[in-house]
Amino acid sequence: MNSADVAIAGAGIIGLTSALELKDAGCNVTVFDQGEAMSEASRAAAGMLAGADPENPTELRELAKLSLACYPGFLARVEDLSAKRIPIRTTTTVQGVKHLPATLDHATILRTVLSEREVNARAPGANTAGWKFLLLEEQSIDAWDLAEALPAAARAAGIELRENTSVFTVRGGTSGVDIVTADGTFSAGSFLNATGAWAPSLDRSLPVAPRKGHMLTTELPGELQMHCVLRTASVYIIPRGATRYTIGSTLEDAGFDRNVDPRLIHDLFSRAVDLWPPLRDANIAETWVGFRPGSEDGLPIIDQTSERCWVATGHFRNGILLGPGTGRVLSQWIVGREPEIDLSPFRCGRFALSPALSPAS
Ligand SMILES: Cc1cc2nc3c(=O)[nH]c(=O)nc-3n(C[C@H](O)[C@H](O)[C@H](O)COP(=O)(O)OP(=O)(O)OC[C@H]3O[C@@H](n4cnc5c(N)ncnc54)[C@H](O)[C@@H]3O)c2cc1C
Repeated sequence: MNSADVAIAGAGIIGLTSALELKDAGCNVTVFDQGEAMSEASRAAAGMLAGADPENPTELRELAKLSLACYPGFLARVEDLSAKRIPIRTTTTVQGVKHLPATLDHATILRTVLSEREVNARAPGANTAGWKFLLLEEQSIDAWDLAEALPAAARAAGIELRENTSVFTVRGGTSGVDIVTADGTFSAGSFLNATGAWAPSLDRSLPVAPRKGHMLTTELPGELQMHCVLRTASVYIIPRGATRYTIGSTLEDAGFDRNVDPRLIHDLFSRAVDLWPPLRDANIAETWVGFRPGSEDGLPIIDQTSERCWVATGHFRNGILLGPGTGRVLSQWIVGREPEIDLSPFRCGRFALSPALSPAS
């Protein structure tokens, strides 16, 4: 079929969660990906649903809250449709901070700030020097589990998924859009650009760039010694079942360079060993890189860009957390309903007013 109610470019978490929500709303949906579905940032991710991270910008709170509320239903639906499991891998995070966030009141401090003994009960052998540790109720999943299940779920739901089919350009008309792809021209009632770090290739006005991240997984023989995520601003360690721990990440402006730099992997591993010394006996099992879609101000861009076109990109370090909520509000908007949360912090217009771009600066 060469037409659909909604066509989506990009089969990462943002494109596919939107596709599932739109399908539920009664739309025929086709999703194009230039490569394999869920093979870019969405599979490279650490999988932390870090809605409680005190370092998150306040503008993300409402979308993060909605997305976390959507998560149980989203995972159950994807598991059901795909017949693949996406286990919750951890349920708490121990986060080291240099200073307690000013927003914490006394009761919250009593509840969340851990003594050295409490840190050690959760992360035995952790190096606590110079840090105050917070206990956050936060879950993580393995992005590889989601990457296996979500495309299968989309197909089972009746969404047409066209892999290895780049979208080149999109031309808007009054009754629909023409989408020029590697496989010919396709027509749709509406179009969503969910191409992550590649979004400017379809709309040059979008201030988005790839923010490269290196990751590694280690094997530490013996019993699993830590069951929570241990995180500071410079490194995180995530137990991944059995004897594996995933460690991340760097933040680089290196374009779409797919090379793994052994020096950066070594540096990341050293930072992890410094935070959690038991890791010094671990072997590096896997290394990889991914490209976070980073906007100019670090916030997502979720907007209607013309009568029949929408964009959702710029989810930066939190796209796994924010995916189901983003899919929910986009589908509401595209089918003509009022999105259930205020999306004004994520509109494109904010860049025209930013000091960097304003004529007065
Ligand atoms: C190292 C690392 C660690 C991370 N850790 C976390 C974490 O712990 N928690 C969290 O919430 N987030 C995390 N993130 C962020 C998260 O992975 C991203 O924000 C999210 O995956 C972005 O999803 P997306 O669908 O926008 O982009 P992507 O997953 O990159 O998907 C975009 C898709 O568009 C396709 N595409 C591009 N151009 C075209 C075109 N012209 N035509 C057709 N298809 C096209 C691409 O092939 C790709 O499949 C991490 C990211 C990285 C890199």
